[in-house]
Amino acid sequence: MNISESKRLFAHAQKFIPGGVNSPVRAFRAVGGEPLFIKRADGAFLFDENDNPFIELINSWGPMILGHNHPMIREAVIQAMHEGTSFGAPTAREVEIAELITQMVPSVEKVRMVNSGTEATMSAIRVARGYTGKDKIIKMIGHYHGHGDSFLIAAGSGAVTMGQPDSPGVTSGTAKDTLLAPYNNLEAIEELIRFNKDEIAALILEPVPGNMGLTIPMPGYLEGLREICNREGIVLIFDEVMTGFRLAPGGAQELYGVTPDMTTLGKIIGGGMPVGAYGGKKEIMDFVSPSGPVYQAGTLSGNPIAMAAGLAMLGYLHDHPETYGVLNQIGMKISEGIKKINLELGYDYTVNHLGSMYSLFFTTDPVIDFESAKTSDTALFGKYFQAMLHRGIYLAPSQFESLFLSTALTEELIDRILEAHRESMIEIHKI
Ligand SMILES: *Cc1c(COP(=O)(O)O)cnc(C)c1O
Repeated sequence: MNISESKRLFAHAQKFIPGGVNSPVRAFRAVGGEPLFIKRADGAFLFDENDNPFIELINSWGPMILGHNHPMIREAVIQAMHEGTSFGAPTAREVEIAELITQMVPSVEKVRMVNSGTEATMSAIRVARGYTGKDKIIKMIGHYHGHGDSFLIAAGSGAVTMGQPDSPGVTSGTAKDTLLAPYNNLEAIEELIRFNKDEIAALILEPVPGNMGLTIPMPGYLEGLREICNREGIVLIFDEVMTGFRLAPGGAQELYGVTPDMTTLGKIIGGGMPVGAYGGKKEIMDFVSPSGPVYQAGTLSGNPIAMAAGLAMLGYLHDHPETYGVLNQIGMKISEGIKKINLELGYDYTVNHLGSMYSLFFTTDPVIDFESAKTSDTALFGKYFQAMLHRGIYLAPSQFESLFLSTALTEELIDRILEAHRESMIEIHKI
């Protein structure tokens, strides 16, 4: 495969951009090799600067649930472009998308639009702190909530360990207010609460985590968190930046029937434009300025072009709930196909699957939290990644990511993915 243009661009990019990329995982450091520079995308395919086609299994890390360059979203954006790109004043589309979000995610009674998932989670914990008058938050080890200071804390192993900053630049003052717990473990939460009685403002988690590879909540876990938060007056925040509008029209909370107090959204909500949102109970959201004292603002928040793309995307998903059955079928075929091929070849690796998300872990242990995810052979994953890429399949360049499927994956493409998987598995296990 000729990737000379990507190589040239990457070398040049590193002179002007830290590491040559605008977001770290794009640099392929976890899997070796050099990133592809993408020229365009359409349906199930990405095309690099040398015009090599790749079948997409990340879809811009989630947003492109209908495949790339969907004509309906493209048209909505072009239409909006004729009217101007930013006004810095309220628009009808913002009201329309807010109403639609509250319909699709009923626990969100009021919603504020922002420009990224990071902004959504940062703002949500500020509001939860303002609302409860408490400072500490509980975060799950291995869960990702964007790059806000309070969330860049994942080190420490015991359930009562105080957070240590994960990145230079995050102060220990900030880190001490973030308490860490392992996912899928209610007793660890109870213990944190015993040691920090009446000091905890919020518990934030990915209800179905994708950022340590896809992991599934154990039966009763999310319900248990809900009960604990009710009992202790802790604001329960579901970070559905990844799962929102993906696992169901109403996200993981609809799928599991557990209602959080606040929800953060992103990715799909912008139809590929930079959008995030946070929302929840009226009485909490009314703490947000200008109706309440908690300040949060944005020059480009609710941007008309971004709202047009988001409205087209959410409107479609709202009107076509059958999409989720289709996505689930695609996810079943790929994940079951992978399991079957692995077993035929004699490898009993763990495959976690839910709807249009899945992860193949190079471990035979069940993966239920960050500890178990780390039993994966990441070097082997790196080889698998390269073997798949070589066969024209574009995976997330890290073991600790979920894959995101789109409706653009036809039967024929699924067969090609599975064939590439078989060949790659054989190749990487040869000594
Ligand atoms: C991607 C992601 C974020 C951060 O969103 P950005 O738009 O990248 O800032 C936050 N939470 C979760 C669960 C995510 O998957």
